[in-house]
Order: sequence, then structure tokens, then C-alpha cells
Amino acid sequence: MVSPFNSIEIYNVSITPEHEILRKTMRKYAEEKLAPLWKEIEIKDKLPQEIYNELANMGVFSIGIPEKYGGQGGDQISKMIVIEEISRKIPSIGVIIDTTDFPILALLLWGTEDQRRKYLPSIANGKAAAGAYTEPQAGSWVAGIQTHAEKKGDYYILNGRKIFISTVEYAKYIIVLARTSPPNRNRMHEGMSLFIVDKDTPGLKVGSKLNVLGMRGDRPYELIFNDARVPSDNLIGEEGMGYYYTMTLLNFTRINIAAQAVGIAQAAFEKAFEYSINREAFGKKIYQLEGVSFKISEMFMRLQAARLLTYWAAKISEKQLQNPDKSLPEVALAGSAAKAFATETAEYCSRQAVQIHGGVGVDFETGIERYLRDSIITTIYEGTSEIQRYIIARLLPRIMYGRKIDIG
Ligand SMILES: Cc1cc2nc3c(=O)[nH]c(=O)nc-3n(C[C@H](O)[C@H](O)[C@H](O)COP(=O)(O)OP(=O)(O)OC[C@H]3O[C@@H](n4cnc5c(N)ncnc54)[C@H](O)[C@@H]3O)c2cc1C
Repeated sequence: MVSPFNSIEIYNVSITPEHEILRKTMRKYAEEKLAPLWKEIEIKDKLPQEIYNELANMGVFSIGIPEKYGGQGGDQISKMIVIEEISRKIPSIGVIIDTTDFPILALLLWGTEDQRRKYLPSIANGKAAAGAYTEPQAGSWVAGIQTHAEKKGDYYILNGRKIFISTVEYAKYIIVLARTSPPNRNRMHEGMSLFIVDKDTPGLKVGSKLNVLGMRGDRPYELIFNDARVPSDNLIGEEGMGYYYTMTLLNFTRINIAAQAVGIAQAAFEKAFEYSINREAFGKKIYQLEGVSFKISEMFMRLQAARLLTYWAAKISEKQLQNPDKSLPEVALAGSAAKAFATETAEYCSRQAVQIHGGVGVDFETGIERYLRDSIITTIYEGTSEIQRYIIARLLPRIMYGRKIDIG
């Protein structure tokens, strides 16, 4: 017994030679093709189309789609390796991989065979997707959403407003959470459904772009649904199950964000370490000053722990793919732990990297301060660090003692 789990076998994470080949391939591509583009992407706030196409052709946005639906397959750890290596150079591309995972997972878990055959080959061919849950009055509190979908004949008519939606610029599809029954004050999470919506749907308007701190290249948008007509065939799974589906999807995609954060932390660590062994102050390399080298040691420790937690959570999440109808608490627990720890590690390492670089660290031209801007965002989207701790605190008594303890 390794509390709170039943067996030590849960820690069995195996990395294969194929994983290492994948890492080397992605690292080479990211260093040769993506790294030189960082400044252009920061300034133009857009991924060059040819790079988007190249990544799509490589299957970067569609990891996990089985071969029978036109994909290349790939397990959860492969997905983490790709996100990590790409995010080490351009974290905003990690966002596109993450959001496109929403329909891939939703269709594999609850989609009909017709839906899978309709959408998965198209996504495998490079069509990206967004996931739209957040609304002006409901972010952490997903149960508070107001966007509603009314069934009329063969269509659902969607009305409402979503904000902070990433990947809208590149997406063909948008996974949308909407109410299909009026809210019940005591059971707000009930009566929601999940839809896959074409971005060109009449009545769906892309609103303004939000000028957020970082993730330049994929900053979020507002979406307005004004009598948007969505065919009823686009309902995913059962009507009324949308909240459960969304929470289950987030248990997966939070691990994607953990991998994105590991990539940022790795980049910040490397830059800081390299600078510290070359920069001189007081007649020494600054690495020879304990105040600096201990920071590097701390960054190293946290980074390794974050990566291990992320791969561990990814490995455990494979079980959920085999169990679409049952929420596995250990998957949520591991995903939340990995997400909070890895994103806070990215923020810590980026902050230290800026400090170790001194004035150079806050100069846009050196590309160091962007890690800090991007890492702060990772601690907020797909559930803030506070929400990850809330999830962990709720799950622990359930897993360890079979008890529910109410927390704030
Ligand atoms: C760059 C960016 C991209 C995004 N992309 C997407 C996207 O693609 N799709 C999408 O649907 N959403 C997206 N979001 C929205 C994001 O998921 C929300 O911003 C996030 O979940 C927090 O919600 P909120 O902003 O409404 O903050 P609030 O929920 O209002 O929270 C405010 C503060 O209160 C704290 N808090 C709230 N509840 C609790 C609690 N129970 N216990 C302790 N503290 C609590 C929070 O941690 C936070 O510090 C994106 C956001 C950003 C910034």
C-alpha cells in the first residue's frame, strides 16, 4: 500500500526506445525550424501558415487518433513528449495540440462510429479544434455556464457567449458546452450537453481577441452564439452528460498543460544554466556564486519532479480511455497534481531564469522574459492552481477512506 493508492504498481511508467526516437525527432525539428521563429511569432502573434501545415502533416496536432481513422496512433506518453519538445521552443503551439485533443478524446470516448468517421480523419489531416467552456460569469465554476441549446427539429439552436477560447484562429471545429435543460439551483452541473460545432456554422460569430499576457501565436478569443443552428447529429454522447464529459476531458488535457509547462521549465533551466557558467561578476563566473548555483540546483530538482509527475499522470490516464463511463479518481488526482506542480515549476524556473540573467532577463530581445509570461498563463487555464488543489483535497478522503468531506 502506497497511500493513497492500493499498490506500488501504479508508479510503473515505462519509457520505450520508440519514445526516445520520437523525442529526438521532435527536438531536432523544434531546434531547426521553430526556434528561429520565436520573435516573429511573438511580434505577429500568429504561427506562419507553412509551419502550421508542416506540423499538421507531421501529425503533431492529432496524436492518439487510431490508424483506422486516418491517424498515426500514439500513446499518452508520446503526446507528452511531443508537447514538451515543441513547447520548449514555442509554447503556444502546445496550446493547439492541447485544444485539438478535446474532440479527439471526446469522440474516442463517447462519439458514435459515424461521428468518428466524419471528424477524426479530418482532424488527422490537420484540422485543429478549440474547446469552449468558459463564459464571462463562469470560469472555475463551470457549472455556472448560461449558454443554452434548444432542440428544434433536427437542430439545436445555441445562444450565449464564451470567452478566453484558445485556438479559434486555427480551428475548424469547436467543442461547445451548453445547457440543454434550465439550471436547477441545487444541481447546477446537471442538464448540460457537449457538441462538436463547425466554426463556419451560421449564427456563430468570432468576437474580439483577448490581449492576454503571453502565449503569443495562440491568444484567446470571444465566441458569440446567436441562434447558431447545430445539427442534432453533432451532440456528443448522451444529452445531459456534458458536465461529466467536460470534467473527464479536463482530467486528460490538464496533463497536456503539465507537459507544456515542463517544456517551458526545461527551456528556462537550460538558458539560465548556460548563462550562469559564462557570465562573470566579481571576477568569477556567476555559477561559482552560491546564490546563483543553488538556484540552478533548485530549478533542476523541480524540473525533474515535474517531468516524472507528468509522465506518471499520462500513463495512468490510459486507463480512463478504456473506461469511458466511469470517472477514475486516480486519473483526476494524478492529472491535477501534475498540472499544478509542473505549471508552478515552469513559473518558478522562468522567474529564476529572468533573475539569473539580470537586466538581460527582462529585455524582450533575449527571449527570456517570455517564459515567465507564458508560464503564468499555464497556472490559470484548464483550471487554476487553486482548482487543482481543490480537486486533490476533495478526492483524497474519497480514495483513502471512502468518505466525502465537504470543502469550500
Ligand atoms: C490565455 C487563456 C486561454 C484560455 N483558453 C481557454 C479555452 O480554450 N477554453 C476555455 O473554455 N477556457 C479557456 N480559458 C479560460 C480559463 O480556463 C479560465 O480563465 C480559468 O479556468 C479560470 O476561470 P476565471 O478566469 O473565470 O477565474 P475565476 O473562476 O473567476 O477565479 C478567480 C480566482 O478565484 C480562484 N477560485 C475560484 N474558485 C475557487 C475555489 N473553489 N477554491 C479556491 N480558489 C478559487 C481562482 O483560482 C482564481 O484565482 C483560457 C484562459 C486564458 C487566460
